[in-house]
Amino acid sequence: MTKKIFWQDPYQTTLETRVTGVSGNEVTVAETIFYALSGGQESDRGTIGGRPVLQARKEGREIVYTMAEGHGLKPGDPVAMTIDWARRYRLMRLHFAAEVILELVYKKLGAVRKIGAHIAEDKARIDFEWGENISALFPALKAEALAIVQADRAIVSAFSDETNERRYWEIPDFSRVPCGGTHLRRTVEIGAIELKRKNIGKGKERIEVFVSDVTP
Ligand SMILES: [Zn+2]
Repeated sequence: MTKKIFWQDPYQTTLETRVTGVSGNEVTVAETIFYALSGGQESDRGTIGGRPVLQARKEGREIVYTMAEGHGLKPGDPVAMTIDWARRYRLMRLHFAAEVILELVYKKLGAVRKIGAHIAEDKARIDFEWGENISALFPALKAEALAIVQADRAIVSAFSDETNERRYWEIPDFSRVPCGGTHLRRTVEIGAIELKRKNIGKGKERIEVFVSDVTP
């Protein structure tokens, strides 16, 4: 089973590890910093042994990396792993911006149902089953999110159940949320949050979340 260094240190961008399994173009490694699409957070981009990873996917608790034809990797090979940090850091900032907005939506609307979420490099989105225009909440959401960012709160990330790889993040007195994504250390790293509304069908509302590097 791949040891997930991206949980231990989500800021690590290079790693020396070794190949543990090869099946055609699919490779597994002993330890990894390379996140695979899960919980709506997109996969990283990067390399194993200097070769680009074409796809990363979860298979149970294992992570399988698809390499190009003729990659030449063999079990036991020592390899360096790298990730595209600019992309990963954008994903982490957008992920946590979406986490904060989602928690604030729950606090305001109570039993609203989340029906989808996705975090890409340019924006995040959260979809809700909700019969009214959700942008009515935006001024309050933005003000309260801004206060959390400016307060530069520490974000705790840890296992609730290490055997089954269940994780959570927590900001004391704000929220504790189960999530296996990669999380920032401090809220100030999110930056300035912008929100846009999309109506995605009757009774469904989408919030698009953007972050900018401007100090809020
Ligand atoms: Zn998360």
